[in-house]
Amino acid sequence: MKTFAKMSATYAPTLKEDPAEAELASHKLLLRAGMIRKTAAGLYSYLPLAWRSLLKIETVIREEMEAIGAQEMLVPMVTPAELWHDSGRWEKYGPELMRMEDRHNREFCLGPTHEETFTDLVRNELRSYKQLPVTLYQIQDKFRDEMRPRFGLMRGREFIMKDAYSFDATVEGMQKTYEDQKDAYARICERCGLRALPVVADSGQIGGDTSVEYMAIADAGEAELVWCDCGFAADTEAATAGVSVAEGESGELQKVLTPDCASIADVSRFIGVPEAGTRKALAIVTGEGKPAVVFVPGNHEMNDVKAEHVFGEFHLMTDEEIEYYGLVKGFIGPVGLPEGIEVYADACLRQSEWWLVGANEADYHFVHAKRGRDFCIDDNSWVDVVTAQEGDACPRCGKPLHGARGIEVSQVFQLGTKYSEAMGATFMDEDGKEKPFQMGCYGIGVSRTLQAVVEQHHDEGGIVWPVCVAPYEVEVVPLDVKGEVWEAALGVAASAVEAGLEVVVDDRKERPGVKFADADLMGFPYQVILGRRGVKNGLAEVKDRATGERFDVPLADVASWLANKIVPLRA
Ligand code: ATP
Ligand code: MG
Repeated sequence: MKTFAKMSATYAPTLKEDPAEAELASHKLLLRAGMIRKTAAGLYSYLPLAWRSLLKIETVIREEMEAIGAQEMLVPMVTPAELWHDSGRWEKYGPELMRMEDRHNREFCLGPTHEETFTDLVRNELRSYKQLPVTLYQIQDKFRDEMRPRFGLMRGREFIMKDAYSFDATVEGMQKTYEDQKDAYARICERCGLRALPVVADSGQIGGDTSVEYMAIADAGEAELVWCDCGFAADTEAATAGVSVAEGESGELQKVLTPDCASIADVSRFIGVPEAGTRKALAIVTGEGKPAVVFVPGNHEMNDVKAEHVFGEFHLMTDEEIEYYGLVKGFIGPVGLPEGIEVYADACLRQSEWWLVGANEADYHFVHAKRGRDFCIDDNSWVDVVTAQEGDACPRCGKPLHGARGIEVSQVFQLGTKYSEAMGATFMDEDGKEKPFQMGCYGIGVSRTLQAVVEQHHDEGGIVWPVCVAPYEVEVVPLDVKGEVWEAALGVAASAVEAGLEVVVDDRKERPGVKFADADLMGFPYQVILGRRGVKNGLAEVKDRATGERFDVPLADVASWLANKIVPLRA
């Protein structure tokens, strides 16, 4: 029979002070509320309250996967090296891959993800197009020996992931499976109480996207995003936004003295033009070892990831290199560059003819430098390297983009035949030919999702659990643990359980202040506070943790009152 839990018997050691090891609010709160403990760097133990929430998140995931026909299973966390040699990733995967040997000197790794294992699983036994599509998934611990494990569950080394792998006969089939997963992922975020944006991580050549990341909006997020009211959202590293460029003034080429103006901000202030109207020059050495200068609008940054696509493994020139190539730090421009330096510019600058640029001479700039007259950018030297930012035009609808930060909670990918070809995983198609599977893979960070929920739902007092993933839905807080008040608490708790609610009773002999503080800290959605005076009058005080509102509810009605509020909010 279902019953309520007792706080005295719940292993949830709370902390009064903020733990020094934690930076993020969510990390501090999970530690303080006695929900997680660090075992070693990047290795966390989930205590009973956190585990209850994690199981709820997993339930949501399982329901959404079942709804689209994905089948749950489990593969070993340890993976033999041969499979990784087959896919070619044994060499490619960096030191995040935790490699090890068994007593017979056979090599293994701890699975950071399981494309290899699942592809191997089907490659000899899923034979006919008639059996397709198949989507398999698991919820399992993953291990990545992250360089900097941090922020608690956000970037652990061992963490819980749900990972799914789909096998289709055709590209169209794979795309349909991918869309189903993408939609399910949106519902999972929503049902867990997360405000998340689907961000295009990678655009397919044929149009549409081939990978989307769901980003939980939070200032503490590691990812920088731009998004638009029209539904467009992208990582600033992936977005090609319409950067509107301020055109400079026209006129004769003029060299002006700009003393001590080696930064864009200085020049812009000194000459009296907005930063957008100046041009920033980045001196680099390309992956091929060639010196080059790249121009971007003064108010934009060059993005390393995008630049790597263009220049390979480039680096920004050191001061010594700048000098060696005859450049003048802070005053680099396209007019009169030393011989042998390649010139590139972000494609957005095509809109602008008149540039304000460094004069390649200490303390001087050129105003009215005209493209085509004073300097040239070759047709094939226009590149896409600028980081999109707030205020740039949305590439879809043209409206100004908003900026935000996000936590990547999940990602879906169209893999195509990358793994099936590398690993020889084929099936017999309708036309009698052997073909590689069209695959997709889909991952959710279950433990990261838990912390992302806390990051989005907390206040000064503690965690504010959304009902859907709260460890308990109701906490009964009797201010006496004997006599009438205690009797009332037992009655309310029993009837709330009867009404199908998940209830914990704070039966500890603590002062009211301690109980209130812990109740707020642990953050269960509703608190039922029972004091002597109220109980005498047949009343309980019910506090809504999220809004702080308090309601006087007759003791006999508390259970149905709570059920009316809570049941509709369940995921
Ligand atoms: P990140 O860019 O944050 O390192 P990723 O893109 O490498 O993540 P994926 O391979 O897409 O991660 O894994 C799927 C999901 O697993 C991620 O969306 C994230 O929620 C979760 N995840 C990945 N790495 C970690 C980690 N170190 N700790 C906790 N969760 C993680
Ligand atoms: Mg990812």
